[in-house]
Amino acid sequence: MVDDTARGRPIDLHTHSVVSDGTETPAELVAAALAAGLGTVAITDHDSTAGWAEAIAAAEGTGLTVLPGLELSTQLEYASVHVLGYLVDPADADLLAEMSRIRQERLGRAEAMVGRIAKDYDLSWADVIGRAAPGATIGRPHIADALVAKGILPSREAAFRTILNWRGGYYQPHRAPLPVTGVELIVGAGGVPVIAHPGARGPSSLFDDRKVRDLVAAGLAGLELHHRDNAPDRLPRWRAWADEHDLIVTGSSDYHGAGKPNRLGEHTTDPAQLARILERAR
Ligand code: AMP
Ligand code: ZN
Ligand code: FE
Ligand code: FE
Repeated sequence: MVDDTARGRPIDLHTHSVVSDGTETPAELVAAALAAGLGTVAITDHDSTAGWAEAIAAAEGTGLTVLPGLELSTQLEYASVHVLGYLVDPADADLLAEMSRIRQERLGRAEAMVGRIAKDYDLSWADVIGRAAPGATIGRPHIADALVAKGILPSREAAFRTILNWRGGYYQPHRAPLPVTGVELIVGAGGVPVIAHPGARGPSSLFDDRKVRDLVAAGLAGLELHHRDNAPDRLPRWRAWADEHDLIVTGSSDYHGAGKPNRLGEHTTDPAQLARILERAR
């Protein structure tokens, strides 16, 4: 999977394209990864593997390795928990069905949020859906882009601080499976599950020894300990769990193109840890 040309160059295992809420096509994402000097980039769109073929084709002959993955939406109590899944079988029936269900849930939820926003602002569902790539996994960033296009707010950042914030008055969660179910689905599809940004403020405090043990028993392989959303005061417990269960430790940018300030390669994964991911895939 990782060839010699990629050796020695940075490894970034979490990025998004227009297949979900990134702003670049998979081919543009690959071009950006090359320009950033990466050796390996994982494409991990939310709840979709639809960008893989284009990204892999774009990287052919460039010396950049594309690691195919996804970021599966799961839900623990009131919080979203994201589970990265590397090297899943994209044709696995159970995973396909769940991804499709989640995308559908996200669509209904976004439309409901827009319905509420439209009572107070000049925004329609057509403004939102008309700007998204066909079949894209729809999220709040697409609503943000429409708010920006209509001149209502200056940026995604501003939208997440105000109208789209969970306390903003328009927020609605979307249904998703439990984290343990997400891990099982990824393992069932032959892939390698890694909890994304586990130390992020929202969900981090919902985990305890027992929940982590259950995830490991279900096949959890790793933790994304190097990520800008991990709160420094939350990291020690996750590091301890990584040691206790001998989990793979990854680092990534969570690049969304122009949609977020995150820059490619701002956090990276050690080659030995990537090797563990490749060994673990079936
Ligand atoms: P959703 O999944 O629809 O609830 O929206 C969450 C997504 O929005 C995540 O994938 C984040 O990458 C993105 N996001 C969260 N906060 C921000 C922000 N401040 N600016 C831009 N994108 C954000
Ligand atoms: Zn995103
Ligand atoms: Fe995430
Ligand atoms: Fe992400």
